[in-house]
Amino acid sequence: MLVDSHCHLDYEDFATEGVGEIVKRAQSAGVGHFLTICTEISKFPQILAVAKSSPIINCTVGTHPHHAADAGEINIKKSDIVDLTKDPKVAGIGETGLDYYYKHSPPEEQQRVFATHIEAAVETGLPLIIHTRDADDDTVRIMREAGQGKARGVMHCFSGGRKLADASLDLGFYISFSGIITFKKADELRDVVKHVPMDRILVETDSPYLAPVPHRGKRNEPSFVVHTAQMVAELRGMTAEAVAQQTTENFFKLFDKAKRQ
Ligand SMILES: [Zn+2]
Repeated sequence: MLVDSHCHLDYEDFATEGVGEIVKRAQSAGVGHFLTICTEISKFPQILAVAKSSPIINCTVGTHPHHAADAGEINIKKSDIVDLTKDPKVAGIGETGLDYYYKHSPPEEQQRVFATHIEAAVETGLPLIIHTRDADDDTVRIMREAGQGKARGVMHCFSGGRKLADASLDLGFYISFSGIITFKKADELRDVVKHVPMDRILVETDSPYLAPVPHRGKRNEPSFVVHTAQMVAELRGMTAEAVAQQTTENFFKLFDKAKRQ
């Protein structure tokens, strides 16, 4: 069994077909659990409703760095996040982090909101889901400062280099690989896949975005996580079954509020 550790099942892209159908198809492909990720706390009720629609879906609560300065997000306090994590379906905090590539929100706001999420994670003991792009140094610095060595979590959709991978592993974080590792030009990233200890690797789709080869350019969906796991297997010289077993074990160890059905 595989887990899609990061998808966005509440997004419009899945509305026509319906989450039930998407999940059913993923199950036929061997994907047995899903973590649907919150990007705007103002939309949390919809995300929680998706998680509640099935025992094999959990969700998170958090503000994506793109939305850090949005009206519905900018005033979120640590206590607001902590309160929302009390639902048994909420298995993590995020996605949060820094994105200096798009800079949809000013970096200062991103940093402040990121630190608030880390503090909520320390208070609740829940794992963080971290999004970082073109902001390696600030990400690691804020993880260290706000986390005080007590925050745990995953660097999601990892696309950084060895240095960021090592810093994240040193902080006890897991590394999640998406369909990007199947892309033609991703040789450097494939080297990182070979380098991260197997007991710290997760796989994800980040669907509806970033469909792996051979579906590149199409809408992504959780069933496609098999292609990412297959690439991990090839790079590590393992069977697909062994990769599925190990990454699933890793997932339930990190996201320990999610219960294997
Ligand atoms: Zn995402």
